[in-house]
Amino acid sequence: MNETASLRARAEIDLAALRANVRVLRARASGARLMAVVKADAYGHGAVPCARAALEAGAAWLGTATPQEALALRAAGLEAPMMCWLWTPGGPWREAIEAGVDVSVSGMWALDEVTAAAAEAGRPARIHLKADTGLGRAGCQPADWPELVAAARTAEQAGTVRVTGLWSHFACADEPGHPSITAQLNTFRDMVAYAEKAGVEPEVRHIANSPATLTLPESHFDLVRTGIAMYGISPGPELGTAADFGLRPVMTLAASVALVKHVPAGHGISYGHHYTTAAETTLGLVPLGYADGIPRHASGRGPVLVGGVRRTIAGRVAMDQFVVDLDGDQVAAGSEAVLFGPGDRGEPSAEDWAEAAGTIAYEIVTRIGGRVPRVHR
Ligand code: PLP
Repeated sequence: MNETASLRARAEIDLAALRANVRVLRARASGARLMAVVKADAYGHGAVPCARAALEAGAAWLGTATPQEALALRAAGLEAPMMCWLWTPGGPWREAIEAGVDVSVSGMWALDEVTAAAAEAGRPARIHLKADTGLGRAGCQPADWPELVAAARTAEQAGTVRVTGLWSHFACADEPGHPSITAQLNTFRDMVAYAEKAGVEPEVRHIANSPATLTLPESHFDLVRTGIAMYGISPGPELGTAADFGLRPVMTLAASVALVKHVPAGHGISYGHHYTTAAETTLGLVPLGYADGIPRHASGRGPVLVGGVRRTIAGRVAMDQFVVDLDGDQVAAGSEAVLFGPGDRGEPSAEDWAEAAGTIAYEIVTRIGGRVPRVHR
């Protein structure tokens, strides 16, 4: 059953803010094109509307992790250049090739599988060869690069693939001055130069994520891949706030206070009684819990704006609800509780929640569950 936005809770998605953020990022991208990273349902913001809004604001590419995410965007009618990078054996590679979705290839096993899928599809696969320049995750090691490049060239000559991209990903771009940044850039330049010398003519070379787009012009190459900054969230506390970069948070998470009641002093609150009322007070029940992505680690710490005042979760976050101590204030049931948003009304930010939960803001927004309706405006 669909919950209407006026009930329990909602995540309001400000697409005008997203468009403005895309424009800010494009202006910082040294003329490179921008790939809107809309994996994981656009970091919880709703993939299709966010992809559309990003393209309207000048994004040239869409990026996803899985091929299924990319195919869902194609099924929704999005025709922009699109790339997916999470390789898994037995994935829907033939469908991806038929849908014109570019695929990342990190090694021979993936090249073999994608080549076979291209033969089935009867058209060349568009592939981006991924270099592991130091992240130590996906990507081809420098030592194995010559073999992969040679095999990709052979497949190009046979007409089963077209190498459209050469790419990599940073490990520490959110840590200004980290020595791995320069090391990765140097390795990337070398690996690109090697591939080009071997005859690869990529449409795009790319390595920059949000922090690199914002702070490392030398990393922009032909394309930048921006996720978190597009959603108006700072890519890292050491780099500055979203506002410092002129970015505006896109998601506001709010709920209707479900119940307000008076309790005496000494009343234990929520599972485990980790909070006890110090004096006679009023409590407000907020109908969101860890099943909705509210981190249980933020128990006793998560900030919420209720009745215009910033308050803190009292006791543990439960599966579907948590309690705030209203300090005796008369707040009407049905009033709005704002967990995070752009801050115009004094509400906390997703970054505040990340700090309260000992995590990163990426995780806060991405984990808001499917039970919370997204309201795009
Ligand atoms: N590129 C790749 C390969 C990614 O996995 C991600 C996200 O994790 C991004 C780009 C976007 O990163 P960010 O959200 O920091 O811009």
